Amino acid sequence: MERTLIKDLKDNIGKEVLLKGWVSEIRNLSKVKFIILYDRTGDIQSVANKTTEGVSFNAIDDISKESVIELIGTVKEHPESRWGFEVLIKSVSMIAAAETPLPVDPSEKSQTHIDKRLDYRFLDLHSKRTQNIFKIQSTILQGFREFMYQEGAMEVTLPSIIGASSEGGTDLFTIKYFEKQALLSQSCQLYKQMLACSMEKIFTVFTAWRAEKHNTVRHLNESRQFDYEEAFADDKRVMTVLTQCVQFIVKKVMEDRKKELESLGVELQVPGEEYLTFEKVQEIMKKEGIEMPAHDLSGEAEKKLGVLYPNTIVYVHDWPLEGKPFYIMPHGKNSKGFDAIWKGMEITSGGQRVHDPKLLEERLKAHGLDLAAFKDYINSFRYGAPPHAGWGLGLERFTMLMLGLDNIREAVLFPRDRDRLTP
Ligand code: ATP
Ligand code: MG
Repeated sequence: MERTLIKDLKDNIGKEVLLKGWVSEIRNLSKVKFIILYDRTGDIQSVANKTTEGVSFNAIDDISKESVIELIGTVKEHPESRWGFEVLIKSVSMIAAAETPLPVDPSEKSQTHIDKRLDYRFLDLHSKRTQNIFKIQSTILQGFREFMYQEGAMEVTLPSIIGASSEGGTDLFTIKYFEKQALLSQSCQLYKQMLACSMEKIFTVFTAWRAEKHNTVRHLNESRQFDYEEAFADDKRVMTVLTQCVQFIVKKVMEDRKKELESLGVELQVPGEEYLTFEKVQEIMKKEGIEMPAHDLSGEAEKKLGVLYPNTIVYVHDWPLEGKPFYIMPHGKNSKGFDAIWKGMEITSGGQRVHDPKLLEERLKAHGLDLAAFKDYINSFRYGAPPHAGWGLGLERFTMLMLGLDNIREAVLFPRDRDRLTP
């Protein structure tokens, strides 16, 4: 007999089915016993009675929560139940018993601290809330790829082990690489630029490592980024692409994940966009009495932008040159670099890049970086490199903001932070 998924039970009324899944609850009403079973598609109430075969009627009480069982039964209409039908069990058998007690409660009836849930992430993944978050994240990933293919971009994969820091600035993890020391990449910046200068429009889902010691609710030491790079484009052009991309993904999540959003209590709207120069933001914050560093947005300023422009992707552009990395194109006294703020937090940094080797050398020197370490990178622009621009969008940051999660660790399956390397 072939397995039936719980979502397909409605098409099998009156028929005998084989179900496989996890037990979320057992209820004992002396003459009958209810087993609530779930699989990846939903849950269902099933009813055992004295004639049930396999696990004997009395032993059903001993089936521990989260155990995996299979059962054969007949689907019967049952208008009073919240499903509208139920399964009358013919036989039950155990596939894999769960040990007791469960260290965390996936039924969410009692709240377990996030640290403990992450210690037992494999069990936390039995919880509907956790599953819903990652079902939605899967749709975000799918949406990104669909949008990019539709946009005519091609997907590439780029190296994570690098010989020298690609950006300067942030701390990198070092690794032993045979006789040499290598680094784990904090971004694919330089590679995606090389790709744009040959293949024109590319994207990648890149894992980035940062050895930053801070422990915040918005940073991980290992995170995933949606990266996009386009030739013959400037900052304005790729901001437009980002808006369309985010709108596409949000729309897709709203359409494909209605049930999950509702279960998480999340109401989504497709965001609009707003363009503000860095100078304008400084003015606004001055009026609001919010302090800001000269060349960067403070967390408080980002939050304020979220309040002033709800449900909007706010582009802060014409960023002061000093506040952006060496590879960002100068523009008067400012730069063609930007940040995108959504729901009060940075989701993306991007901009037009420097494609002229001479100017690149100048910019590296201005940042006090060693030209020798960037030789290959500089050389890559010597043989026909067009102007180009791009951005990087943090997947976990984006998921966290979309779903209103209060900690980015909720938006990554197996977080790597200052203290956590396992599971
Ligand atoms: P922030 O100012 O928020 O620390 P950043 O400017 O250092 O971010 P970028 O280098 O611009 O980050 O990276 C691009 C995007 O990747 C960010 O906008 C954010 O969405 C995400 N991101 C950056 N650092 C982290 C991190 N440590 N953990 C999770 N996501 C991150
Ligand atoms: Mg940034």
